[in-house]
Amino acid sequence: MINFHKKWIKNSYVKIKDEYQLLDKLDQELGDGDHGTTIFRGLEHAVNSFSSIDQNDPIHFMKEISKTMRIAMGGASGILMSIFFAEIGNLQKLNSSILDILNNTIIKIKKRGNVKVGDKSILDVYVPIFNYLENNNQYQIDNIMKLIDDSVNKTKIMEAKVGRAKFLETKGVGVIDPGALSTSMILKEFFKERNNEENI
Ligand SMILES: [Mg+2]
Repeated sequence: MINFHKKWIKNSYVKIKDEYQLLDKLDQELGDGDHGTTIFRGLEHAVNSFSSIDQNDPIHFMKEISKTMRIAMGGASGILMSIFFAEIGNLQKLNSSILDILNNTIIKIKKRGNVKVGDKSILDVYVPIFNYLENNNQYQIDNIMKLIDDSVNKTKIMEAKVGRAKFLETKGVGVIDPGALSTSMILKEFFKERNNEENI
């Protein structure tokens, strides 16, 4: 079970390592320009902490990973992006409870981020996936990948209601939300790894 978590986090780290400059570039248009570097640092610290965390209990393991990321990232993005990682510890079986995990993640992001759907944030990736899975017990991996990409692309036309972008004259319209994009990369790695494990 922990192997799944470790593979997913490692794959996310590798993906973000490739893409962090693009994420920084988007954040230069909307925020303070460091989102890619920040999430990269968070995942790097997470991967480097594997061996120092007790690996018998996924709940404990993912709580520690979440805490490591939150501290390494700092700020609002550290708080909001580490929520999903802590929740994933509760995933006891590969085929169950992903809906609960997404639901709890969404509730906590809404509360701590004071953010709603359509505000141009990471929520705009989590919520469409939750809605889709709630209505589709069986899903095709390709459909999930496409839904994640479509959800991220929709943040491009949204006006920012949260973060620094809300103070821009453009409200960030025309630019993809970097947090939504990095979240989408991490979620795609999650569903890919789930798919791999299910196919073993
Ligand atoms: Mg920043």
